[in-house]
Amino acid sequence: MPELFIGGAWTAAAEGGTREIRCPADGTLVATVDEAGPRDAAAAVAAAREAFDTGPWPRTPAAERGALLLRVADLLQRDKADFARAESLDTGKRLVESEYDMDDIANCFRYFGNLVAAGGGNRIVDTGDPGVDSRVVHEPVGVCTLITPWNYPLLQTAWKVAPALGAGNTFVLKPSELTPHTAVMLMRLLTEAGLPAGAANLVLGAGAVAGAPLTEDPRVDLVSFTGGLATGRRIMAAAAPTVKKVALELGGKNPNIVFADADFDAAVDYALTAVFLHSGQVCSAGARLLVQDELHDAFVAQIVEQAQAIVLGGPFDENARSGPLISAAHRDKIEAYVAAGLAEGAVLRCGGARPENPELQDGFYYLPTVLDECDTQMSVVRDESFGPVLTVERFRDEREAVALANDTVYGLSGAVWTKDTGKAHRVACRVRAGTVWINDFHPYVPQAEWGGMKQSGFGRELGPAGLAEYQEAKHVWHNLSPTPQRWFA
Ligand code: NDP
Repeated sequence: MPELFIGGAWTAAAEGGTREIRCPADGTLVATVDEAGPRDAAAAVAAAREAFDTGPWPRTPAAERGALLLRVADLLQRDKADFARAESLDTGKRLVESEYDMDDIANCFRYFGNLVAAGGGNRIVDTGDPGVDSRVVHEPVGVCTLITPWNYPLLQTAWKVAPALGAGNTFVLKPSELTPHTAVMLMRLLTEAGLPAGAANLVLGAGAVAGAPLTEDPRVDLVSFTGGLATGRRIMAAAAPTVKKVALELGGKNPNIVFADADFDAAVDYALTAVFLHSGQVCSAGARLLVQDELHDAFVAQIVEQAQAIVLGGPFDENARSGPLISAAHRDKIEAYVAAGLAEGAVLRCGGARPENPELQDGFYYLPTVLDECDTQMSVVRDESFGPVLTVERFRDEREAVALANDTVYGLSGAVWTKDTGKAHRVACRVRAGTVWINDFHPYVPQAEWGGMKQSGFGRELGPAGLAEYQEAKHVWHNLSPTPQRWFA
């Protein structure tokens, strides 16, 4: 069956393009999928435009839109095993992690389903004049382009699709060329849940070929993008001539600040998951460890000991605790960053190489790596390497910790570890990031907004603001008994 979904029909690429999807864990062929070109992108936008302008979805009552999202949540739960397996084959991530993701995705649909069904935020405005009925109504923005990355393919997609549909929009989704399968499966579930034809459209293909036209097309009203900083800049520029609404969820280089009075064992444990979960391919990864001077040696020694014990393996290897990188090109990039860091004076404490295990040679594995004695001038500290590489910086006091944490163009997330509550909250307030954890790392809930400050982007996903991103607030003023004002009399 063809994999592009346009106007409610499954279709092959107009120009016959296809792409092989290979599992990053061992290079085996997962499937060959259709690869869209600009003509397919234009057809998908036309279908979404038509569905928005004349189709039923934008005019469906909020309670019914919410109910559809709740049905999607149930269907995702029903098909969880198939979805998790498909996600693991595309990304190489451990099956158990994909299973957690599927629960989170169902919860995301459930959250927005309930939020939308509860009313959508329309309100009556008290003008002080009983002769006027003044209301603010929330309308859908229109046709949305949704572009997502490969690290959490369906999760990032759900954060956009659920609120976009909940608000009554229509959309064209373009997932990463590397990880298309769960997006295809989601289209089937949306149809099964009862979404009318044309409201959801899917093009698979390369960003520059199939994605770029979706960011330029004058028929598109909003572009919501999750991905890297360089692509985000291009998308913002592409959307500018037609003044589309833009939401950008970009990268991060997130500081994990550990004070000497932190709970040692817990801080070590979380510092490891902060950076090595999913081989560091997490936008909020705690890739920068900032550790107070007096704790430094013992803390780093313990991190290194535990990092060296992390077992690498494929998605279905139950002994494995971390998987491969997404591609050979991505591993090359990480190797270049580590080499640059060493050339600039970082000290290698562990890793810094591919594993020697012969069973892993067909996958894109890289050992958990710790680079010590780093500083913010090094490219491996400044840039998002997006791999299993922890850089360690020292600080003397609270003031220096905050200054170092903020010495980055990014502002996605960060964490502070201390038993001193006052210090924890002072630091959490001063770190310029969209999410700050205190004595924790990574958790999020769909009720709370997610997004970046500075060059980590703008706009918010999840929470009420995540729905508002896809709504226009319109003020309707109704003069109930107009009489001539005679302004010009
Ligand atoms: P990229 O920026 O390379 O790609 C993201 C998406 O954009 C892909 O679907 C890609 O297509 C597409 N794309 C690429 N070029 C264009 C273009 N010119 N026009 C339109 N679309 C385009 O990011 P990665 O896929 O490498 O993902 C990793 C990045 O995502 C990291 O920087 C990470 O921090 C960030 N991220 C941010 C999150 C957040 O919440 N802030 C969450 C998760 C990830 P294709 O790949 O098919 O070529």
